[in-house]
Amino acid sequence: MGRTPLLRLTGVTRDLPPDVRVWAKLEGFNPGGSVKDRPALRMFQQGLETGELRQGKTVIDSTSGNTGIALAMMGSALGYPVHLVIPGNASLERRQIIEAYGAIAIESDPLEGSDGAIRHCREVIAANPDRYFKPDQYFNPANPLAHYETTGPEIWQQTEGKVTHFLAGIGTSGTVMGTGRFLKEKNPAVQVLAAEPDDSFHGLEGLKHMASSIVPGIYNELELDGKVPVSTEDAYDMVYRLGREEGLLVGQSSGGACWAALEIAKRLEHADIVTVFPDFGDKYLSTTLWAGWEELGPAVPAGG
Ligand code: PMP
Repeated sequence: MGRTPLLRLTGVTRDLPPDVRVWAKLEGFNPGGSVKDRPALRMFQQGLETGELRQGKTVIDSTSGNTGIALAMMGSALGYPVHLVIPGNASLERRQIIEAYGAIAIESDPLEGSDGAIRHCREVIAANPDRYFKPDQYFNPANPLAHYETTGPEIWQQTEGKVTHFLAGIGTSGTVMGTGRFLKEKNPAVQVLAAEPDDSFHGLEGLKHMASSIVPGIYNELELDGKVPVSTEDAYDMVYRLGREEGLLVGQSSGGACWAALEIAKRLEHADIVTVFPDFGDKYLSTTLWAGWEELGPAVPAGG
């Protein structure tokens, strides 16, 4: 788990000034297929260490998908049942993956999104409080800690300490908080930025529009140097470009992070900007991301 590659983008960055580089941490290479393997492992370990997770307990959480996949994988490997409350509109593939690992998916109201899943999960636990261990990714310090201990040091090492900006999308905010904290400790001049959906109704699975959401307990906006609002349309266009210009098939939130990183990159003359691509795109093929993409027509070869 972890030790994922850091890839320098060379296609979508073509028009940037020569001394501005953009790097993407390819988190889809984790065994469960996303960045969420890191916090899921840390939260499992913490539960086992404190004894809150022990034989007879069922692991439960509300998750828009990737944390669920990671918990389901670990529950299966370690012998703990896993129940996951997921919004009814989470992609079919993610639901199937969760169930293939033997976990149980409990659907919450699709119109209420990830906040509806959080509320429904609370109700399920309240009805049977002794049965469950809840990793509680939105409030558990082990979530950002996983990134402080692994993602941050990996980026520092992979850029040989040259990273100038770190930018990640915000869902629980664990990635940007934990990684940002580590990098700022190494070099306080590193700018830590968050990419955020520009609207409460957005199609960026895994990301949160903070102003209209239940704010995660682990989120501290004061630690950020800035936020970049991203529209669903710009993020989707960037997903298509990454496929055609970089050979990378990624999810919506990677498109959003990449678009935001390029917005920052355009204004700089010397920079090494690191962003996170939280997962690959194969589990979103049935979503609106790809509805109507054929209208793009054939790819135009570089210089052609
Ligand atoms: N992108 C995807 C696809 C995700 O599943 C998540 C996790 N919700 C994120 C981005 C955001 O990561 P974090 O929770 O660490 O803010």
